[in-house]
Amino acid sequence: MTRLPLVQADPRSACPKDMMFGPCGGVGADGACEVSPVRCTFVDDPVALWPGDVPVAAGGVLHAPSPAAVELAELVRARPVVISGLPARALDADSIRQCAEILHGTVDAVLAGDSGRARVQLPPAYRAHVIQEAGLRAWMGLSCRDRNRVALEGEVAALADVGVAGVHCVTGDHTLTGTRPDARPVFDMESTELVALARRWGLATSVAESPAAPPVDLRPARLAQKVAAGGELCFLQYCGDVDDVRRFIDRSREAGVTIGFVPGVPVVIDRAGAELLESFAAAVLPPGYVEGILAAPDAYQAGVAAAIDLSEQLLAIDGVVGVLPAGGPEPGTEVAFAHALASIGRALGAGEPLAPRTR
Ligand code: SF4
Repeated sequence: MTRLPLVQADPRSACPKDMMFGPCGGVGADGACEVSPVRCTFVDDPVALWPGDVPVAAGGVLHAPSPAAVELAELVRARPVVISGLPARALDADSIRQCAEILHGTVDAVLAGDSGRARVQLPPAYRAHVIQEAGLRAWMGLSCRDRNRVALEGEVAALADVGVAGVHCVTGDHTLTGTRPDARPVFDMESTELVALARRWGLATSVAESPAAPPVDLRPARLAQKVAAGGELCFLQYCGDVDDVRRFIDRSREAGVTIGFVPGVPVVIDRAGAELLESFAAAVLPPGYVEGILAAPDAYQAGVAAAIDLSEQLLAIDGVVGVLPAGGPEPGTEVAFAHALASIGRALGAGEPLAPRTR
């Protein structure tokens, strides 16, 4: 296997995440860094261009696409897909199993990523195994915060071997913004490099973009660099109403982005969950969305109905190939939240079962 040169370190190491292809999605509305009391080092610069590739381990095995990845790609070509969040308690495999069983047959895959409220998680490959044992396709979130490039490549290799549907490659939130500020952040790689690494291992990939985070005008060009690195789907952070999503996709097309978009759909079933969603960095919810749900006599039913309605509007946008309903359940409400996601998935016609595994 050809060994390629490392991407050279950039002198802009004033970034607390040591990013070269920033900015991350956590830039404040005023251009402030999400973790340091200074202006984000990237907001006034042109977009950094992706230079090529990343090195992989000698002897690393390029996997054929997993059956789950092939099926999901076929579904994307056939109809809109629903990739939901997975509301399970951290460090609790039984909770993952329980929620996965509720969602089985109702959504096309689950995105199981990091949580800002419970940063210590079971390893992604193990969670993927538990999810898939319940018959669900697993699209695993992988962040660069807690692992160096050696550990990330090992995790990518494990995700390829366990046969996930895909991997969502993010730089990750800084440890200072989560529940373990005592942990030293790593950020040896960032999302743009991680997506290239995942592709080298044969995984289907997605990348994130936050259209409402500064520098708003440069976000489409930044997404184009993630696509150049190997991003195959773009999961969009909440960025306002349906027209805001449409405008970002149109501008991304003008920037040369040809991949499909999967916008996030905020799912709110109670006040605590609403407050959590509104705390997400760079998240802009549709005007009146949360207020309408919380004012309803039954917030649970209103939240499910609002998510279905917003999903249907988003799916009508040219370039949208699926939706990602998710949210932040309060501890103890994971099962109710999973039922809400299942209702949304069913209403949108998602949830073909996983075909028998061939490896
Ligand atoms: S906002 Fe993000 S990209 Fe910008 S300096 Fe801070 S950590 Fe780095």
